[in-house]
Amino acid sequence: MAYKMFDWQSIDTVLLDMDGTLLDLHFDTFFWLEHLPLRYAQIHSIDTEDARQWLHERIIQQQGSLNWYCIDYWTQELSVPVAELKKEVADKIGFRPHVHDFLASLKQHGIRSVIVTNAHQDSLNLKIEKTGLNQLVDEVICSHDFAMAKETPGFWDKLQEVEPFDKQRTLLIDDSFAVLESARAYGIRYLLSIFQPDSQQPKREIENFAAIEHFNEITPK
Ligand SMILES: [Mg+2]
Repeated sequence: MAYKMFDWQSIDTVLLDMDGTLLDLHFDTFFWLEHLPLRYAQIHSIDTEDARQWLHERIIQQQGSLNWYCIDYWTQELSVPVAELKKEVADKIGFRPHVHDFLASLKQHGIRSVIVTNAHQDSLNLKIEKTGLNQLVDEVICSHDFAMAKETPGFWDKLQEVEPFDKQRTLLIDDSFAVLESARAYGIRYLLSIFQPDSQQPKREIENFAAIEHFNEITPK
């Protein structure tokens, strides 16, 4: 669904997802579906294809729960040092196009920008180290600090306690439909999705939410 250009005068806070929104999801896809199965197989001396299939099933079971994002959980479940393994492929971490200009423009216009991520603190730190993302926004909030994923009802109330926002004047940009649904149910007025979170995967069809290809489409002038 193409977006109808909103009036930036009516928005004073932008809540931003990190992976698949500000950063290319390719790193995460590659890590979970390729690198982790390969290293898991090596570390436990088992067949790579068996490891891949078994891991994909395990990962899909946890999707949408906080465990899915939790490095401690996977480190314990799989007996491999997940945070260390991520560092091995950290050169794949990168911005989606036009993110710097978009965030700079929000700052210029006095619009508050807050990253709200389900990423685990260790993943977040690695990504901050690689990109300096925290320097480009006003605040970074990790859902693990509330022990609740963004998809969970109740998350947004928790967020309000540390980062008060007027839901009538807030825009959420997130590639996850489950997160956008949860924000819609809570009453966040402006919602926007991303057509192509992973630069190496095809563009998605999006029915229920307005979406953009790149941030230059909405950067305040
Ligand atoms: Mg995301």
